[in-house]
Amino acid sequence: MNKITIAIDGHSSCGKSTMAKDLAREIGYVYIDTGAMYRAVTLYCLQNGLITDEGIDTNELKKHMDKISITFLLNPVTGRPDTYLNGVCVEDKIRTLEVSGKVSYVAALDFVREAMVDLQRLMGEAKGVIMDGRDIGTVVFPNAELKIFVTASDEIRAKRRYDELTAKGEKCNMEDILANIRERDRIDSTRAVSPLRKADDAIILDNSNMSIAEQKEWLLAQYQRVTAG
Ligand code: C5P
Repeated sequence: MNKITIAIDGHSSCGKSTMAKDLAREIGYVYIDTGAMYRAVTLYCLQNGLITDEGIDTNELKKHMDKISITFLLNPVTGRPDTYLNGVCVEDKIRTLEVSGKVSYVAALDFVREAMVDLQRLMGEAKGVIMDGRDIGTVVFPNAELKIFVTASDEIRAKRRYDELTAKGEKCNMEDILANIRERDRIDSTRAVSPLRKADDAIILDNSNMSIAEQKEWLLAQYQRVTAG
């Protein structure tokens, strides 16, 4: 069967990556979490003093871009890809609230997006890929055979993020998480370069009242429908 490209976009913390990872494992596709790439650039900025209270030192970051290498390596224990920044596994470090609080500003920079989109197109050029993010169906792979736009209520998304972070032992509270999700959605949807929006040919999935198992089944059915035709 010919392999296709699957683009999954949507709002922050709406479970895109969980459903994308599960489907990738089931159908033997490569999963690429593009949010992790923007998070890794943000972590690099934090580690190298390129983000201060005054904002991002964009001139300096431009000079550093070719020193930032982002790769994914399959974790044999979880069966899911971990994110590596310059050869170091940063899977946990990129998920903290500190990174979440800055990532949308970094992701709004045109030269950062250009570099990430080039990398994403390279990673997906052989097809057989499921990529999730904000601009996959609109900018990265506008010809993807299957496009999904995922959303859920703000409160439900915040609760899912809260559960995920507390399970990892990170101290957090619901108000901060809800505020972060709303702020990221606002910045992501209003930025000048590649704003978050539904591609005209994307199918909407509101998973507010769906279990992970139900979403998985729904997505598999979409994949089977597209590949059967
Ligand atoms: O998907 P995740 O929530 O980890 O993404 C983190 C941030 O990265 C988003 O809030 C957004 O600012 C940025 N992002 C983006 N374009 C993508 C993926 C993520 O701008 N394709």
